[in-house]
Amino acid sequence: MRTIDSIIFDLGRVLVNWYPYQYMVQVFGEEIANVLHESIFSVKEAALLDRGEMSEDEIWQIRLKRYPEYAPYIEHMKDKILDLLTPIEENVNLIPELKRKGYKLYVLSNFSKQAFDAIYSKYGFFTYFDGLVISSHHHTVKPEKKIYEVLIQEHGVAPETSVFIDDREENIATAQKLGFHVIHLEQPSLLKQKLEVMNIL
Ligand SMILES: [Mg+2]
Repeated sequence: MRTIDSIIFDLGRVLVNWYPYQYMVQVFGEEIANVLHESIFSVKEAALLDRGEMSEDEIWQIRLKRYPEYAPYIEHMKDKILDLLTPIEENVNLIPELKRKGYKLYVLSNFSKQAFDAIYSKYGFFTYFDGLVISSHHHTVKPEKKIYEVLIQEHGVAPETSVFIDDREENIATAQKLGFHVIHLEQPSLLKQKLEVMNIL
């Protein structure tokens, strides 16, 4: 195995907390949370956000129109949702050290334009990265090969000397097919340990 020189991070549940269902259970109770989670927020339009083919405003309007009886809950989530995206501090704190060690750092993540803009302007850790590949900027989402190829072709990342980190199995599978080393991060708290095992940290 050649030495690892680049590390590629997913955002949600790797570097950034993203647990809207758990939040809704806390605030609205389980019954309402289930309706919101399974019917209202799981519509196919949500995928179009990550593809950059629909805006956050458009999708909230569609939800409010389709489920007027849930309007107060939908309005609450509309106002609150971007605040639920917060850094996973213990993992974000590893970034400066990885940079100091000389690794090239990248983000490869499915994110709507508005949500990404919100966290990008709010949190400073993005300045450590050498490249940011965000699905809505490229009209392709993981696990499609095409978005990984943006990283390879536009950023010159070589899969065989790179580690790709993601919480979702299907995203890991595509990365493996393309020849990346991978870390399937099922628990955010395991990141440091997994990097140490691979001798990266
Ligand atoms: Mg994720």
